[in-house]
Amino acid sequence: MKIPNSMQAMVLEKQKQPLVLKTINIPSPSAEQVLVKIIACGVCRTDLHIADGELSNPKLPLIIGHEIVGVVAQKGNAVSTLKEGDVIGIPWLGFTCGKCKYCLRGKENLCENALFTGYTMNGGYAEYTIAFEKYCFHLDKKYANASGAPLLCAGLIGYRSYSMIDKNAENIGIYGFGAAAHLITQAAVFHHKKIYAFTRDGDVPAQQFALNLGATWAGNSSQPSPVKLDAAIIFAPAGNLIPKALQDIDKGGKVICGGIHMSDIPSFSYDILWEERSIQSVANLTRKDGEEFLKLAAAASIKTETKLFQLHEANEALRQLREGKFTGAAVLIM
Ligand SMILES: [Zn+2]
Ligand SMILES: [Zn+2]
Repeated sequence: MKIPNSMQAMVLEKQKQPLVLKTINIPSPSAEQVLVKIIACGVCRTDLHIADGELSNPKLPLIIGHEIVGVVAQKGNAVSTLKEGDVIGIPWLGFTCGKCKYCLRGKENLCENALFTGYTMNGGYAEYTIAFEKYCFHLDKKYANASGAPLLCAGLIGYRSYSMIDKNAENIGIYGFGAAAHLITQAAVFHHKKIYAFTRDGDVPAQQFALNLGATWAGNSSQPSPVKLDAAIIFAPAGNLIPKALQDIDKGGKVICGGIHMSDIPSFSYDILWEERSIQSVANLTRKDGEEFLKLAAAASIKTETKLFQLHEANEALRQLREGKFTGAAVLIM
């Protein structure tokens, strides 16, 4: 594959400032890395948290974006499982050390020396990027385009959140019906679960979207759940949803928080946590989550609802995500 000398990228030079379109050199892969020509990159809420300064200490200047679909353009000397022309997905987890206590316990998502795509290493709001071979996923042909991008974070984090729930859970509440929710709802419906979708109050398009994807019920977050839920997953970055979800779940139920950042949680009475209800956050992903979820997505024929933007429109895509202007997932196409 012929590789040009330079590429276009949307660069975050400083947090709380818009991204800047720049022409920069194309990076060279190290021995364990591949150079990837990007087809599409999803726009995730985490990108917003990084750009808006809610997540601290990103590498700067930084190319954000961690839902990357692309083609291997060049490989380092030690790359063994990927070849030029392979279609791959690059997720948030970009590197782990394999040596710390978390890695040794099979919890590489908590690795002390992890690198994260589009946060502590450059990501996908660009025409090319480099990635460590061992953290890339092969993608099913049907996802070798913009539709595959949301699977790589929204899908993966949604799946990790969903897999924290008791396997026997029947009635599952989802709070915040955006990119992650629309994917995991399809997986849960495939598993014959009943989904109760809670959206921003009055967000009728999102409620209709949830029902179209097979949700049993959809309504406002401020409404009580119509049934006692076995579990709840919160994707919206709103801390006040934690006590609300605790009130909606049954004895022994879990509230799973799928986001990387949330506003403060208001204090609440112990009563609503009593009877072995629990609250758990979900951090990052493991490669095993990725392999399991991508297999499930293909088996369940999970469809992604995307709103497409050009690379140079990244600031506009972020603005629309911040303001909740669309249903599904925003994706940049290169
Ligand atoms: Zn580690
Ligand atoms: Zn993400």
